[in-house]
Amino acid sequence: TEVNALARGEIAGLTTNNLDAHWMPFTANRQFKKDPRLLVKAKDMHYTSADGRQILDGTAGLWCCNAGHGRQKIVEAVQNQVAELDYAPPFQMAHPKSFELAARLAALMPDPLNHLFFTNSGSESVETALKMALAYHKANGQASRTRLIGRERGYHGVNFGGISVGGMVANRKQFGTMLAGVDHMRHTHNIAGNEFSKGVPKNGVEYAEDLMRMVQLHDPSTIAAVIVEPVAGSAGVILPPEGYLQRLREICDEHGILLIFDEVITGFGRLGTPFAVDYFGVVPDLVTTAKGLTSGVVPMGAVYASSKIYDAFMTGPDHLIELFHGYTYSAHPLACAAALATLDVYADDELLTRGARISQYWENALHSLRDCKHVIDIRNIGLIGAIELEPMAGEPTKRAFTAFLKAYEKNILIRTTGDIIAMSPPLIISEDQIDELTGTLRGVLNALD
Ligand code: PMP
Repeated sequence: TEVNALARGEIAGLTTNNLDAHWMPFTANRQFKKDPRLLVKAKDMHYTSADGRQILDGTAGLWCCNAGHGRQKIVEAVQNQVAELDYAPPFQMAHPKSFELAARLAALMPDPLNHLFFTNSGSESVETALKMALAYHKANGQASRTRLIGRERGYHGVNFGGISVGGMVANRKQFGTMLAGVDHMRHTHNIAGNEFSKGVPKNGVEYAEDLMRMVQLHDPSTIAAVIVEPVAGSAGVILPPEGYLQRLREICDEHGILLIFDEVITGFGRLGTPFAVDYFGVVPDLVTTAKGLTSGVVPMGAVYASSKIYDAFMTGPDHLIELFHGYTYSAHPLACAAALATLDVYADDELLTRGARISQYWENALHSLRDCKHVIDIRNIGLIGAIELEPMAGEPTKRAFTAFLKAYEKNILIRTTGDIIAMSPPLIISEDQIDELTGTLRGVLNALD
């Protein structure tokens, strides 16, 4: 009948140029439709565009395809899983792979981050961690600890908790009232003397004292948690000054505040260590992850919780013995299978530490762009890089976005946020491919108005 024909796609005039039905995320649909950029295939370091070009992936998709694309082991694991067990309800029920995955993830993280809660995205991991922090204090007899502290320019996904503790104005201003009882520390972008830093910048550890000011202002008995990205990605690659994260940990310890690291980008080898936790030697109470967990193949996120937090629920009063939170697709079998195979690939190819071996080459290649037109800063850590451009008078963000479009024409995929170009290639990138990426970018930058 009519309904079935429509469901089957028998729709007059259906083409990929008819793009209005799909309301695209974080995209100006009307602009996109004039010149759609459609990707149709991916293998290893390259996408194939709809017009048949090989595009070098300088962004690991969206900071997620850390193992590169189309990895056979992951493909087969997902294919086998969907045929064997397509879905199992995750509340009061489970399937064995979720326990195996949790155990393997726990083993990758230092003690006491031994417990994993599964979600479907970075945004959901953030909401989960914030709710865990609040519920923990309540279970622990400190219900007055409700205040959450984030940072200006922080990006913690797009749900209400995440945009409330986040500090990207554009992501907040369309949506009215945020969560109550949230404060923001300053960001650490553009601190004088840190221009063209290689790795962690030297100046700005005193910015961590913003947390002390909040402790003094609100009294620690009202503060539940502070959430930061160890290295902020989406806001334009903002690195923590030397000693900054360590100082946040000290203040949290002194005042009974939980520290949450949002490792949605930094997790799974991006910094050349399994996690930023390892890179900085700072162990938070909760860690949010997603993206690289399945190398982007199936949506999945996970929150690491410390034993202190987990135990509060396992040993607390009866009415608190479970966390009243979860998703229909928590620990989805396909996601678990993809994550397990992804961990295998990371291990087989030693990818969780590859960033450390290639980061010097990456750093040199990036900083060789220092003399290109309009470049006012270059920053790097692990396999992340950012090039900040001088804003165009009256049209901020236009220059970097033009660079993105021109780069795509020249077969490389980069990302921009504001006037910042960000790169985070799959961890399998070769030295030649780094040269290709930065060489092409040099031409693009020097041709900009
Ligand atoms: N937190 C951080 C630090 C992120 O970078 C992102 C995504 N870029 C998110 C949360 C949100 O993840 P998702 O888009 O999967 O919801």
